[in-house]
Amino acid sequence: MKVAISAIDCAGCGICADLSPEVFVMDHDNHVAKVIVDVVPEKAEASCTTAVKDCPAEAISIVE
Ligand code: SF4
Repeated sequence: MKVAISAIDCAGCGICADLSPEVFVMDHDNHVAKVIVDVVPEKAEASCTTAVKDCPAEAISIVE
């Protein structure tokens, strides 16, 4: 599983980084979240999927 964030759509709320810190971190300088892994670790797949669903801006997509 791989995910990507649209920096244009990201609202900078931080929900994804709270839900799945193994996958997402906040770039506080640019007020957007970043994906910090190439492939989502298996143990983080559930929290990552929750973050995809809960992102209020629908800015996270599953790319693989
Ligand atoms: S949950 Fe969505 S809008 Fe909020 S920081 Fe993450 S990608 Fe951006």
